[in-house]
Amino acid sequence: MTQHRAERASGLVTVPELPRYGQTTLADLSQSLLASAGVPAEPNPLGLPQAERACLLVVDGLGWELLRSNQAAAPFLSALAESGSWLTAGFPATTVTSLSSLGTGRPPGQHGMLGYQVRVPSTGLLLNALRWDKSVDPLAWQPGTTIFERAAAAGIGAFRIAHGSFRQSGLSVAAMRGADYRPADTLGALVARAGDALASRRRGLAMVYSGDLDGTGHACGCESAAWRFQLAHVDMLAEQLASALPTGTVLYVTADHGMVDVPPEGRYDADALPQLRTGVAQLGGEPRARHIYAERGAAADVLAAWRETLGGAVWVASREQAIDEGWFGPVDERVADRIGDVVAAANGSSAVVATAAEPRESALIGMHGSLASADQRVPLLTYVS
Ligand SMILES: [Zn+2]
Repeated sequence: MTQHRAERASGLVTVPELPRYGQTTLADLSQSLLASAGVPAEPNPLGLPQAERACLLVVDGLGWELLRSNQAAAPFLSALAESGSWLTAGFPATTVTSLSSLGTGRPPGQHGMLGYQVRVPSTGLLLNALRWDKSVDPLAWQPGTTIFERAAAAGIGAFRIAHGSFRQSGLSVAAMRGADYRPADTLGALVARAGDALASRRRGLAMVYSGDLDGTGHACGCESAAWRFQLAHVDMLAEQLASALPTGTVLYVTADHGMVDVPPEGRYDADALPQLRTGVAQLGGEPRARHIYAERGAAADVLAAWRETLGGAVWVASREQAIDEGWFGPVDERVADRIGDVVAAANGSSAVVATAAEPRESALIGMHGSLASADQRVPLLTYVS
């Protein structure tokens, strides 16, 4: 109970706002999109209207709170936000997990793409899911169907429009396979390819992905001038897309997660605080969403040490507690052992970096992943072309 006292003392939020899986998360958006396109047996928890053609623009790192506080830089999106709403990304709020929730229409605990770095139970090694690892078969790692496969099986054109370099990535194959992939390496190409793709079919669903806003936020901070300038390009992308899509197409704009700038005083360095490393076999996840894999028999001690060291700055749970509380949504027992023995989600603007093991990630200014509203809340904006 030390943790609770510390939380009250620090003025941080005591209890995280958990994603409402089955109601208003990214997985629910994708299921609703399939239902709205007429794919049989798909639920429509968001109540999206029927549409023969729909386009989902996914802007990496465009948090709802960031969009609302930068209206001048994004007049088109901000106008849509007036009548729009927000969803929660799901945990962890990171690209791997969120694109998988969007790509499969299932929550993290079902698709099993549980973070940026997750331990492979059979080898004990960490899998960086953005870089992937040839020894892990993406089809075995995520065997469930994708929304593209389900749409195509229902006779609906299923398109992905994104940078060509992502086409054969492990993440693409695991969680977004089955799409008619239209490579587009620039903003202009994204617009043109999306318009062409949907115009080629009477019924179609297209997912357009842009990643530069997230990269700008990581490198420069999401409260930087660079981020705002980049947001203006995103706004232009959305506006051009709205005008380039075939008449009647419904354009939805969302994101995979938000972002927080983590100040130096919010950074806890696992490589400088031995109590965060004792009994730890592998430190997974990323600074604002950690999977901590304990050495045999050490899980309880690791849990206690993380709670005591981090106090209210980080929400720390055992694997069982995180599963019971629904951090990942309902968890398929086949993927439960990918979750850390201890799971940690940053409160406020804190983070657990690892400056020796992860020098590149630890140097980033903007970070995301947690259960905090800044990480979790993403826009759901709608425009009918
Ligand atoms: Zn990111």
